[in-house]
Amino acid sequence: MTKVPRINRYECSGCSFCALSLPGVFRLTPEGISEVYAPTNAKPVEIQKVIDNCPVNCVHWFKVNN
Ligand code: SF4
Repeated sequence: MTKVPRINRYECSGCSFCALSLPGVFRLTPEGISEVYAPTNAKPVEIQKVIDNCPVNCVHWFKVNN
């Protein structure tokens, strides 16, 4: 069991904080909202900082089986 970040696309404001903070994990889509494209491409502590500082609190950990 591991955990990966997920974004609630319906709550994302498109502020780009996550994409600017960890461009190897998050990116803005053409629609102007963020997506996770490489969920394991950063240390959990780095992703946690993004989770803690997303202004609308729409980034969360999601547990996956591997
Ligand atoms: S920090 Fe939060 S609100 Fe801002 S773009 Fe990322 S997911 Fe969206």
